[in-house]
Amino acid sequence: MDARKRKSISRSLERIATLELMLEQIEQQPTELGHLYKPPLENMLRQDRKTVSCVENDEPFLASEFTTPVEIMTAMGVHWYFHLERAFSTGGIPDSHMQEDLEAIQSMPVPMDLCTFVRLSFHYLELGVLPRPTAYISMVHPCDPISSMHAAYMHHSQWRDVPMFMPDAPYHMDRASIDYYADELRRTVDFITEHTGKTLEIERLREATEETNRCYRLWLEYHDLRRAIPAPHGPNLARACTGMVMTEGAGLREHGHLEWFEDLVADAETRVVESRPEVPDQRIRVLWFDFLPVFADEILPWMERECGAVIAMDMSGNCPFQLIDTTSEATMFRGLARRALRDPVMVRQSHSTAGEILAEMARLVRDFRIDGVIFPGHMGHKDQAANISLMRETCREAGVPFLSIGMDSFDPSYTSVDEIKNRISRFFAGAGLN
Ligand code: SF4
Repeated sequence: MDARKRKSISRSLERIATLELMLEQIEQQPTELGHLYKPPLENMLRQDRKTVSCVENDEPFLASEFTTPVEIMTAMGVHWYFHLERAFSTGGIPDSHMQEDLEAIQSMPVPMDLCTFVRLSFHYLELGVLPRPTAYISMVHPCDPISSMHAAYMHHSQWRDVPMFMPDAPYHMDRASIDYYADELRRTVDFITEHTGKTLEIERLREATEETNRCYRLWLEYHDLRRAIPAPHGPNLARACTGMVMTEGAGLREHGHLEWFEDLVADAETRVVESRPEVPDQRIRVLWFDFLPVFADEILPWMERECGAVIAMDMSGNCPFQLIDTTSEATMFRGLARRALRDPVMVRQSHSTAGEILAEMARLVRDFRIDGVIFPGHMGHKDQAANISLMRETCREAGVPFLSIGMDSFDPSYTSVDEIKNRISRFFAGAGLN
C-alpha cells in the first residue's frame, strides 16, 4: 500500500483500536446498560473496519453526507462512510487528535467565524487523513458553510479526482420541491451506478426501507416514553438512535439494529413502570435546543450531579421522522426525499422557517414538560441566532425560562466549559429551579 493510502486510513485504524478497547472494557466490567451502549459502538467498529478493508483491497466505496438516504446505498449493496463523523463522535469516543486539530485550524487561511465543523473538514482534507472513496455524494443544504465545504472538496488536490455528486436541494417543502428532490435522488442512483457498477433493485429498496421503517417506529415509541417523569434515560441513548438508523447497514436485518431498538424500548418501559431512571435525582427537565456539543461529557454529568438537571430532549435525540410509504417506487423516492430535506438533526433546524422552529420549540416544551430551555448558540448557527429574541418570547408565553449561551459546539476554547457551567448554574438559580 502506498504512503498516501496508509495515511488516509491512519486515523480510522486508531479509532478501530479505541472502539475495540471500549468494547473490551464493557465486556470486562459489565454495567446495567452495557447491552444498550455496546451495539452502537459495534456498529461504528463494523463500519470503520469495512472502510479500511475497501481501501486495502481496492474495493469500491462511497463517502457520503448523512443526508443521503441509507436505504438507497444499502439496497445498492455499496459500502459508504460519513467522512466527517469523527468531528461529531468525539463526545463519546476519545479522539487524541482533537486538540491538535482545533489548534491547527486557528492558523488556516479561513475566516474564524466559519463553522468549526467545516473548518475541521478542510483540515482533515489538507492532512490527508480521510479514506479516499471511489466517489463522493456531497450536500448543499442546510447551511451556507456546507456549500463551501463542497467547493473545497471539489478543488483540493487530495480529492480533486474523486467523482462528486451533489443533489440539488430546494428550500421549500411543497409537492413540486419534494418531487424535484426525489428526481435528484434518482440521479444520485445513476451516479453511484456509473462509478461503482452497482445497480438499484426496487424490491431491495423496499426491503431496506421497510427495515428502517421498523426502526423508526420503535424510535417513535421510545420518543414517547421519554415524556415520562422521571425520564427513563439520559440523552445519550436517544442520540445513539440517530447512529443506529442513519448509518451504513441500518437497512439490513442481519446487523441487529432492529433488535437494539426493541431492547431500548423494553428497557425504557421497565424503567418508567418501576420509576428507576438511568439518571437519578431528576429535579429539572431541560430542553437543549440544538445538538449537544461534542464535549457534552464534560457538562452533562455535572448538570445531573450538581443541579439535578436532566436533558429531557435535545435535537440529536429528537425523533420527528415520518414513516415511508413503500407501495411503489414513486412513494419511496418521495418519502426518502421528504425525510432527507426536512427531518435529520441540523437540517431540521436550518431548513425550517422561524415560525416552524418556534412551533417545534413550544411543542417540545409542552410534550416533555420542560422546566427550562437552553439554546447553546453554536457559533456556526447564525441563522438560528437570528431567532433568539423570538425563542425567548416563545418561552415566556410557554411559562418557562430561556438561556442563550453562545458557544462553539466543537471547540470548548471558544466559551470554556467552566464558563458554560457558570452560566447554566446562574440560570437555574435565577429562574428558581434549584
Ligand atoms: S454544524 Fe450547523 S453551521 Fe456547521 S455545518 Fe453543520 S449545519 Fe452548518
